[in-house]
Amino acid sequence: MGPGPINAYPRVLQAMSNQLIGQYDPVMTGYMQQVQQLYRGVFNTSNEATLLIDGTARAGIEAVLVSALKPGDKVLIPVIGRFGHLLCEIAYRVGAEIRTIEVEWGEVCDPALIEKEIKAFQPKMLATVQGDTSTTMNQPLAEIGEICSRYGVLFYCDATASVGGNALKVDEWYLDAVSVGLQKCLGGPSGSAPITLSDGFVNEISKRRHIELGLRTEQHSAGSEPMIRSNYFDLPMILDYWGEERLNHHTEATTMLYAARECARLFLEEGENAVLDRHEVAGQAMAQGLETMGLKLFGNQKYKMNNVVGVYIPQHIDGEAIRSELLNLFGIEIGTSFGPLHGKIWRIGTMGYNARQEAVLSTLAALEAVLVKHKAAINTGVGVQAAMTCYAAHFQAQSVLAK
Ligand SMILES: *Cc1c(COP(=O)(O)O)cnc(C)c1O
Repeated sequence: MGPGPINAYPRVLQAMSNQLIGQYDPVMTGYMQQVQQLYRGVFNTSNEATLLIDGTARAGIEAVLVSALKPGDKVLIPVIGRFGHLLCEIAYRVGAEIRTIEVEWGEVCDPALIEKEIKAFQPKMLATVQGDTSTTMNQPLAEIGEICSRYGVLFYCDATASVGGNALKVDEWYLDAVSVGLQKCLGGPSGSAPITLSDGFVNEISKRRHIELGLRTEQHSAGSEPMIRSNYFDLPMILDYWGEERLNHHTEATTMLYAARECARLFLEEGENAVLDRHEVAGQAMAQGLETMGLKLFGNQKYKMNNVVGVYIPQHIDGEAIRSELLNLFGIEIGTSFGPLHGKIWRIGTMGYNARQEAVLSTLAALEAVLVKHKAAINTGVGVQAAMTCYAAHFQAQSVLAK
C-alpha cells in the first residue's frame, strides 16, 4: 500500500509466465500491434506513435527528452515535486536551456503563471509531471495544453503515477508526448514505459532520424538535424522498429510486453470510468479513515491524486518504527517520503490491484493497531468505520445509478 511499486494483478503475473517467442515471430509482432492499439485506449489518443520503451518509467522520460531536445533548446519545467526535479536533471544532461517554475510542495502550478513564462522565455517544450507521488498532488493539464497549443510549444508530461487512476486525455488536452510506467495504477511490474507521441512531435524528432550502419540501404533517408545522443533511447529508431519496416533495434523485452499488454487489457475490460471510480472511492475512503482517526492530511486536498494520500506522522511517533511493524506484523507496506517531506509524512497508496475495499480497510485497521501500541494520540474505533461508511455510500449511489 505504498506509492508504488504495488502488488500486480494476478492476471498480469500469469501473462508473464508465458514462454518467450522470437521478436519477428508473427505472434510477437501481432502482440506489438495489439499493444499499440490497447495503449491508444488507455491514453485516449489516436496517435499512431503509441508504443513501449523498454526500461522503467524514467526510460520513457529520458527517451522523450533526449530525442526532442538538442543542446541549447529551451524547455520550461514547472516543478511541483521530486519528479519535476528529475525532468530538470535529464534536460540538463541533454544540454537544454532550462527555466523552472518552482511551486511549494503540496500545491500545483497555476496555468496563468505558465502562460506568463511561455511569453517571456519562448521555450520549444514545456515538460511537466501530472501526478507527482512525492507530494501526492495531481497537476491539472487541460488548460496548460490549451496554452501550449496556442503558443506552438511542445507539451510533454510524465503521467506514470497518475495514469489509470486519474483522468488522462491525451488528445483532448493537446499533449504532444506522454510517458508512463506500469507499477502504479496500471497494476504491473516496473520495467516497461508506454509512451504516446503526437504527429507534430514525431515530425520534430524525425528531423534527427538516423539509421545504423549495417541496417541502412539506399532507400533509407536520414534527417537533416544532429544525431540523437543516445542510441537506446533514439525515438526515431524505436519508431522504425515498431513501424512497418520493423528495422532492428534492441530486442523487445518479451515478458514485459506480455505484462504491459495484460495491464492495458485489464484497464479496458473493466472500463476507464469504472477503474477511475474504483480509485476515487479507495482514495476517499483511505483519506476519510485517516482523518477520522485524527491524523492530518498533507497538501492541498483539492488537487490530491485519487491513488495516494500523504499523512503527517503524529508528533513524538517514530515513523520508521510504525512502517516496519506494519510490514513485519501485518505484511502491509506504506511509503516514506523524500526531500523536504522526509520524516514528516507517510504516503499511503491505493493503486491498481490494491484499490480494493478490503485492502483499504485492513490497512486502516493495521495502522490503528500499531499506532495504539505506540501510544499515539488518535481516535480509536472510528477510522475503519468511516471508510466503511464511505464505501457503503459509494455502492448505494452505484446501485441507484444502475436502476
Ligand atoms: C513512480 C514515478 C516514476 C517512476 O520511475 P521509474 O523509473 O519507474 O522508477 C516516475 N515518475 C513519476 C511521476 C512517478 O511517480
